[in-house]
Amino acid sequence: MSINYPKSIENLIKQFSSLPSVGRKTAERYVFHLLKQKPEQIKLFAKYLHDLPNNFKTCSKCLSLSEENPCSICSDKNRNDKIICIISNFQDLLAIESTKKYNGKYFILGGLINPIENIGPDKLNIKLLVKEINSKLKTLPEIEIILALSPTMEGETTSLYLQKILKNPKIKLSKLAQGLSTGMSLEYVDENTLANALKFRGIIK
Ligand SMILES: [Zn+2]
Repeated sequence: MSINYPKSIENLIKQFSSLPSVGRKTAERYVFHLLKQKPEQIKLFAKYLHDLPNNFKTCSKCLSLSEENPCSICSDKNRNDKIICIISNFQDLLAIESTKKYNGKYFILGGLINPIENIGPDKLNIKLLVKEINSKLKTLPEIEIILALSPTMEGETTSLYLQKILKNPKIKLSKLAQGLSTGMSLEYVDENTLANALKFRGIIK
């Protein structure tokens, strides 16, 4: 007869295993590490997890995580309203902000097109993106859209799709400069490389 973990431990192991890049063995290590902590420490950890859904809102304009809606970037009058940088997720926003070389606005797609994992354009925030762009074009004669997606197969597929649907004489489309290592996720690119890729971005049309 095999001995199983008590249910409360097994439940936690399953939760940790569902995190990206965490396998069952690592999940077990996390749980046993937690078990060795003081009860107050475990309670604090649990509290932060418990509060997570309540403390964050999604900005209704750019879909960034924020404590306010609209977020501090969307409501910042000193930022250039004529440039929108399209990124896959919040970590990419942080990566670009950390370069301190970008002063426009953002839009978070919420993922990348990935046919293997059955993620099509309908699973991304594209409807809202088009709505945001159209509302900007009502007051601005021209806008620039920077496609700042990771140089991976999924990023390229998504860029091509967006180039098709954002065809409009009032939209100047640009793309991060080459020089980023192919296959690398944007959030892991170092600040200087990312700052240069932004500075030397290429106009698509
Ligand atoms: Zn926002």
